[in-house]
Amino acid sequence: MAVNFLDIPRLNPGYREGRAADYDEVEIRPSRGEVAEQAKRCMNCGIPFCHGAGCPLGNNIPDFNAAVRENRLRDAYFILAQTSPFPEFTSRVCPALCEASCTAGLPSEPVAVRQIEYEIIENAFRRGYVEPFKPRVRTGMRVAVVGSGPSGLAAADALAKKGHEVVVFEKNVNFGGLLRYGIPDFKLKKGVVERRLDILSSSGITFEGGVEIGADISAEYLRRKFDALCVCIGTPVPRGFGPNVEGRGARGVHFALEFLSSQNRVVSGESAELSVSAKGKKVLVVGGGDTGSDCVGTAVRQGAKSVVQVEIMPEPPAARHPSTPWPMWPYKLRTSSSHLEGCERLWAVNVKSVEVRGGFAKSATLARCEWVFDESGRPRAFSERPGEDFKIDADLILLSMGFTGVEKNGIVGQLGILLNSRSTIAADAGMSTNVEGVFAAGDCVSGPSLVVRAAASGLAAAGKIDAYLNNIIKT
Ligand SMILES: Cc1cc2nc3c(=O)[nH]c(=O)nc-3n(C[C@H](O)[C@H](O)[C@H](O)COP(=O)(O)OP(=O)(O)OC[C@H]3O[C@@H](n4cnc5c(N)ncnc54)[C@H](O)[C@@H]3O)c2cc1C
Repeated sequence: MAVNFLDIPRLNPGYREGRAADYDEVEIRPSRGEVAEQAKRCMNCGIPFCHGAGCPLGNNIPDFNAAVRENRLRDAYFILAQTSPFPEFTSRVCPALCEASCTAGLPSEPVAVRQIEYEIIENAFRRGYVEPFKPRVRTGMRVAVVGSGPSGLAAADALAKKGHEVVVFEKNVNFGGLLRYGIPDFKLKKGVVERRLDILSSSGITFEGGVEIGADISAEYLRRKFDALCVCIGTPVPRGFGPNVEGRGARGVHFALEFLSSQNRVVSGESAELSVSAKGKKVLVVGGGDTGSDCVGTAVRQGAKSVVQVEIMPEPPAARHPSTPWPMWPYKLRTSSSHLEGCERLWAVNVKSVEVRGGFAKSATLARCEWVFDESGRPRAFSERPGEDFKIDADLILLSMGFTGVEKNGIVGQLGILLNSRSTIAADAGMSTNVEGVFAAGDCVSGPSLVVRAAASGLAAAGKIDAYLNNIIKT
């Protein structure tokens, strides 16, 4: 008897040839037939960890896999849409926490859930299943959502469906937060963001762009005009070089987001030219995470002479580390499409100084780090190896070392919203801040995270806000 998850191999379609010459999405998509075949690999296990332990949205993955297997793609869409507000974003950029906890992944390879999700949602858009909604009731309650990243959009969507009047305020000219200004087009083309925004606008959500709450409009004024506020402002403050890194202020040293958002603005036509370009440059990307990887792919496309990505942590193991057993998200080496496009990766190195000529960065000096590991085998502390410093030629240095928290002035300061020790908003289990009627969601609460977690957080906040407003209505 055939055992699908063992007998049908997982399909990994990979990336387009020649992709580094343009900004189109890099992934090759399997055909409808291939997706149905892949859905057969789902074991429909009694306790689906993909749905419970993996997906922050709690997507009912076994049920939509069953529908896809039986070629019921309309049903699959409505199963998916019950829990996921924006499958078109997650099916493109989610690292697929569900796949890491898929039971089939124990004896074999996990089910290709993200590829299946992509087929479901793109088919739904093609066939017109994704439509603007009209709430059955109008509550007369008004909610201001501050920030239009995935958390703000998810909150707005859910609140409008409950019949509340929702206005989304965004300080950028265009909407989408990091979906638009952070994640490169080669992972998520911006037409996909526009398509969803059109649905949300047609559903009655009002979008006010180019309005910074706390600067253009006072936060107190907003609070008086709305029955509740949902603060979804992200964590935009980037981590820079420490004060001991000489030359850190040289020209040619930029934060990753400045570089990435400039390219996204040019691709979308919002800007005519790049404010930072890697063309002909020797690029050093400092930080080995996803943002750094996006800098690599963008620098390669812009025509960089060379790209080196450095990371202070040691190289993770090639396979799941024992400290993160199934169904946990595995600690292991990740190689993105951008890495495959041509870059050198160095691990366990630390930038000590930037050499400057005529005000411009020319090279960086790096130390090699010696790591000690804790009892689980994970890196714990490092020291620099004396006498092993080396130089890398670099006239464009991109800092992608993470983010340090929320902007403390503006809305946070004006409303007196309390922060925690990580400089993110101290929201309680009810997603409420210390200020009456002011809720918060997304990265500004959790710290830098993922699109899927931001969306889940926005939905959770919307639920709490809805309960809060219903209490007001009753009293
Ligand atoms: C370069 C990069 C690549 C990434 N790639 C991935 C990926 O591939 N997959 C993945 O899952 N995650 C990825 N992430 C993480 C993901 O983008 C974030 O976790 C997610 O966008 C957070 O959503 P959010 O709504 O909380 O905040 P954001 O997306 O940061 O949105 C916050 C919004 O609030 C607005 N705002 C802030 N203050 C105000 C104010 N006072 N008034 C009005 N508007 C305001 C901002 O302009 C912004 O638009 C990436 C992040 C970066 C930086």
